Amino acid sequence: MVLVFIDHSDEQIRKSSFEVLSYGAALAEKLGTSAAGLLLGTVSTDLTSLGNYGISVVYQVNDASLNQLDAQVQSHLVSEAAKKLNAAVIVFSHNQTGRAIAPRVAARLKAGLVAGAVALPDTSNGFVVRKNVFSGKAFADVSITSDIKVVSLNPNSFPVSTTQAVATVEKLQLEVPAAKVRVTSVNKVKGEVPLTEAEIVVSGGRGLKGPENWAIVEDLAHALHAATACSRPVADSHWRPHHEHVGQTGIQIAPNLYIAIGISGAIQHLAGVNRSKNIVVINKDPEAPFFKAADYGIVGDAFEVVPKLTEEIKKMRQ
Ligand SMILES: Cc1cc2nc3c(=O)[nH]c(=O)nc-3n(C[C@H](O)[C@H](O)[C@H](O)COP(=O)(O)OP(=O)(O)OC[C@H]3O[C@@H](n4cnc5c(N)ncnc54)[C@H](O)[C@@H]3O)c2cc1C
Repeated sequence: MVLVFIDHSDEQIRKSSFEVLSYGAALAEKLGTSAAGLLLGTVSTDLTSLGNYGISVVYQVNDASLNQLDAQVQSHLVSEAAKKLNAAVIVFSHNQTGRAIAPRVAARLKAGLVAGAVALPDTSNGFVVRKNVFSGKAFADVSITSDIKVVSLNPNSFPVSTTQAVATVEKLQLEVPAAKVRVTSVNKVKGEVPLTEAEIVVSGGRGLKGPENWAIVEDLAHALHAATACSRPVADSHWRPHHEHVGQTGIQIAPNLYIAIGISGAIQHLAGVNRSKNIVVINKDPEAPFFKAADYGIVGDAFEVVPKLTEEIKKMRQ
């Protein structure tokens, strides 16, 4: 059986989970087995609807204390569930939750792990999974030889497909171990689209000259219902908060649309954004390296181009 970890936050199933459910279902079909989901905690979504993504059963450990991510507790529970259900492959999203849990699960189960898969495994001769390496500059085909296999899927790598099918929901009785850490407070950024979940991201770099000019980035983001991001020097200079910094040393994202304004396109920046489906670059220097990675490019002064773009988008939205 292929067991798919269902990630959730604030009572909602995360978008990346639908992708891994579709991936898990397609993988199960390839292996001639069934796919099931595993949900630790509680959500407001009707879990039977997850059958739409190709799984037949959702196993739920119905304990609200699990709604807060604790990688040690959750990796223990996923491993126990995998043993109990005889799972051959366990699939995660390669998002922050998956990155925290998947390696621990692999270690507990003595399973081989491919982190950041970008395609279904080739099962014609073993179990070979393709992943990105060198910040997306190359692929590696990695063969997992252990009996149990763990795969985490890069977000936006696999199409979500749906049917009208419904899943059954089964409560899984597992003993929840005592946590070794206690979260004493959580400060959430309110009223903004979370960067890792956003379909559209508008990002600014040093070309914007200073924090006082960020209104043009925010206005465009607002018009597009997008999240805002920035390059590292922008966060290092305290123009923007560090949780907006994307790149090799920041958050790695893969939205449908990434708009880069006044960002040169250094390799370390690209490492965090080059899995975006569409990249639009606005830069006054036609030689800026980012144009090589762009699907669409506008050579021009951001202070002229961006307000006009925002105005047109607002008109279209009306
Ligand atoms: C180990 C290491 C890790 C790093 N990790 C990261 C990381 O995670 N993320 C990251 O972003 N960087 C990272 N960096 C830094 C990276 O190498 C670059 O220095 C950085 O990305 C550059 O930021 P920038 O593009 O905003 O600024 P700049 O390189 O200064 O580029 C500014 C751009 O704005 C354009 N511009 C100027 N004025 C305008 C205007 N009016 N209108 C339009 N365009 C204009 C310029 O033509 C230029 O292309 C890392 C570096 C190292 C060494």
